Amino acid sequence: MTERLVPGPHDAFIVVDVQNDFCPGGCLPVAQGDEIVPVVNALARHFEHVIITQDWHPAGHHSFASSHSGKKPFDRVEASYGPQILWPDHCVQGTEGAAFHKGLSVPHAELVLRKGYHREIDSYSAFYENDHRTPTGLAGYLRERGLRTMFVAGLAFDFCVRYSAEDAKREGFGVVVVEDACRGIDLEGSVLSTRNSFAALGIRCVQSAELQ
Ligand SMILES: [Zn+2]
Repeated sequence: MTERLVPGPHDAFIVVDVQNDFCPGGCLPVAQGDEIVPVVNALARHFEHVIITQDWHPAGHHSFASSHSGKKPFDRVEASYGPQILWPDHCVQGTEGAAFHKGLSVPHAELVLRKGYHREIDSYSAFYENDHRTPTGLAGYLRERGLRTMFVAGLAFDFCVRYSAEDAKREGFGVVVVEDACRGIDLEGSVLSTRNSFAALGIRCVQSAELQ
């Protein structure tokens, strides 16, 4: 039997983008995305420190296919910072789609970190925007508060969870991804490439039952 993980005072649970638009019925739904909500709620109770991220785009955001003439969702464009996948309009600031899933219940969360609010840059990661240079401030927040290991879950496994986990690792934090509290989009093998990348970087994936 694997050793059970017991979150302590220097651990934080990062809940990524559990928003209506990423759940069935939303503008950019992740299949079964809503199924993680009770798992996330239960997991959060194991943690003193919880941080929630919220994708939060202005209308006309550069990552929206509708902002590029002749393009459709899931096409790619070359942005100033490299290739960018184009998405359906989603998580527009102040809309119902950008709101958290109504079942998400993490009242003790200490920080809601919004990302993707610069019109010209997308931000998958909770740490850096997609230019990999513009910080969100999260690394400094975590360091200043003495938080060392990040448990990461949410939507989607192969995009915002992936890039958040990878950046956390590069920033020197311990990282554990709770896989059954994530769901993936799986665009052109992106779930497999996420697993391969986690293995290469030494990012551990666990199931929620391994926590207590
Ligand atoms: Zn987005």
